Amino acid sequence: MARTRSRLGLRLGLGRDPFLKTRAGRIPLFERVIGRGDGLEEGMNAICSHVEPCVSHSEPSESLAVTAARLADALEQDVRDFLVASDQNLGDIEVQIEQQSRELLRLAAEKAAQKKADLTPPVCPVCQQRLSRLTGQHRRSFECKFGTITLGRSRGYCKRCRKWRFPADTVLGLEETAGYSPRVQEMSALLASKMPVEEASAVLEHLTGVKMPRSTLDREAKRQGQRARDLRGKLDEQAGACPRPVQSELVLEPYQMIIQLDAWNIRERQDWGQTQALRRKGQEPERWHWVYTGTCFRLDHRGQSAGGRPMISQRGFAATREGIDGLREQLHGEAMRRGLGQAAGALVIGDGAVWIWRLADDRFPEARQRLDFYHAVQHVAAVGRALFGEDKDKLKAWLRPLVQQLKNQSSIKVVRRLEEILAAMPQGAAAQAVEKEVNYFQEHQDRMDYRAGRRRGEPIGSGAVESTCRQAQCRFKRPGQYWSQQGDEALLCLETFWRNKRWSLLFPHNRHLDVSKN
Ligand SMILES: [Zn+2]
Repeated sequence: MARTRSRLGLRLGLGRDPFLKTRAGRIPLFERVIGRGDGLEEGMNAICSHVEPCVSHSEPSESLAVTAARLADALEQDVRDFLVASDQNLGDIEVQIEQQSRELLRLAAEKAAQKKADLTPPVCPVCQQRLSRLTGQHRRSFECKFGTITLGRSRGYCKRCRKWRFPADTVLGLEETAGYSPRVQEMSALLASKMPVEEASAVLEHLTGVKMPRSTLDREAKRQGQRARDLRGKLDEQAGACPRPVQSELVLEPYQMIIQLDAWNIRERQDWGQTQALRRKGQEPERWHWVYTGTCFRLDHRGQSAGGRPMISQRGFAATREGIDGLREQLHGEAMRRGLGQAAGALVIGDGAVWIWRLADDRFPEARQRLDFYHAVQHVAAVGRALFGEDKDKLKAWLRPLVQQLKNQSSIKVVRRLEEILAAMPQGAAAQAVEKEVNYFQEHQDRMDYRAGRRRGEPIGSGAVESTCRQAQCRFKRPGQYWSQQGDEALLCLETFWRNKRWSLLFPHNRHLDVSKN
């Protein structure tokens, strides 16, 4: 049987909501208990009339130890109840214990925050100037992971910035937020980067009890995304400014840096609502935009799982809506952070898209270049279709030895073979199709060293980046979803911090958790 109110809450004299709503706002129950002679007693009596031991326990000065002892009692009772409840399994007691403990955790967080606020010196957090016209105890409520906490903070005027400041808000990480603690800000950012905000809001409440309306969650996640973009810019600048670390890590074994590039498209809300106007002008609104993506990893970090699946133990990602220029700087920064500066060599792998090779020439000029093997095969197959039309058996019989040759022997032989085929063809549409493919192979001839690549244990395809793109598309290409450039860049940036295991740079409170896993 689900209980509607936690037992601890009852014993503390707290209802489900330990606040009383008044015209002045939400006031914590503890203040009410002391009483202010402003009609609050009435409200208090209303609550106390249906709960029993009530006020006597809820002194504001009650130590956490006393509250914790009472919680321990309540939990013991939960255990006893659980043992005789034949319809309950472990899930029931998990939910029950969590609900019971929440109030103690909330009190601890509130106490900690208030004490820290009280200790914060009255100086401007921006310019360190001493604040003037100080007034104390400005109350404000914040949602933290365990519920609502209310704080009294000092406010002062900074003459240099000409702004009112709440120094405690900065110290506690509460400034600029719409009333949410840093941990809740983080949760909203993580969920919004993984799922649509409608779902994120519901999932957040279900799993943590934290209520955040959809629109607030969306706004908060984008604010965090913007913060992530600013931080990414700084990190990339550092990586670019310092091409070789002053004290470079001792490299025991020379390694190759593998860099893979690809692009996919995303649908955005740009020109939203102007469709008719644009069409009248004879323009079709542009809704699909490219997301440029890259991944990089050290070849010696690529191996196989116990089950024989290829896996990469550490790798970096970059994904951006800010065009090829954006990707160039982000991916270069990421590659530098992953050890490009100390690598014995580098290899860029991508499909035939012109931008990929321009970017490689421009930003990774020392790197070797390789055309993705599977794209090369598709272009050989295109020649086959020009020769054999829809005759699939003939096409397969012709294609198989060529693919083997491309993979295991010199690609030059394959290109020559295709050139000979073209030379022997009568002029016409089929010859034009073949000529197009021959040009493609001549263009990429130096990028098809598949035999050498396989011997060196290098990837011959860009599968790693393609799987990254597929995963990102699942998130960003849900039916009916539209994005704005600002919004999706913010979310892409959050996603990149998470994947690159750099989440704790963005939310430093996570440094207490396992740093190797975000
Ligand atoms: Zn200032």
